[in-house]
Amino acid sequence: LSVTDYLRQHIRTVPDWPAPGVQFRDITPLLQDPKVFRVMIDAFVHRYMDRAMRPDVVAGLDARGFILGAVVAYELNVGFVPIRKKGKLPFTTVEETYELEYGSATVELHADAVKPGDRVLLIDDLIATGGTMMAGKKLLEKLGTTVMEGAAIVDLPELGGSARLRASGLPLYTLVDFS
Ligand code: IMP
Repeated sequence: LSVTDYLRQHIRTVPDWPAPGVQFRDITPLLQDPKVFRVMIDAFVHRYMDRAMRPDVVAGLDARGFILGAVVAYELNVGFVPIRKKGKLPFTTVEETYELEYGSATVELHADAVKPGDRVLLIDDLIATGGTMMAGKKLLEKLGTTVMEGAAIVDLPELGGSARLRASGLPLYTLVDFS
């Protein structure tokens, strides 16, 4: 069994959540089983431990990106910074607003979370339309960093997000596709 197939077996699909017609890919079973959790984290750690791929800092997207990003950062012995939904971070922030299917969303990052020139690894659980990861990338670039790669457990390629992110110049590393 490949790592991809092993992980795929532990992702739960919940029909019609949070809205009718949506097939929600739920990664919580991956975290719940310690063997699967380790295989998943190690897939990221092995890639980014490599000298050429090692980031200066890991940025995680609210909220499941915090769970993965923090563990990966710890294993790489680099710092972790959270990109949060607006209104949660206490210190001076930079922000980026992006369009959703209905309305818009704003994400924030502490202005001193990263330094100009840092090479940042940006992590979330899943890429759908790519809007969230694109907003995170723009936020990090506002502070003068280079986002070396975006990483996620799941890609939903049919929604076109990963293709758009790659077209914008962001390399991506994902573990499981669902179509
Ligand atoms: P995007 O901005 O459209 O790419 O959506 C990705 C964001 O929404 C990520 O932060 C995901 O955590 C969340 N998301 C969207 N669809 C799903 C899903 O099916 N499962 C888990 N998270 C999802």
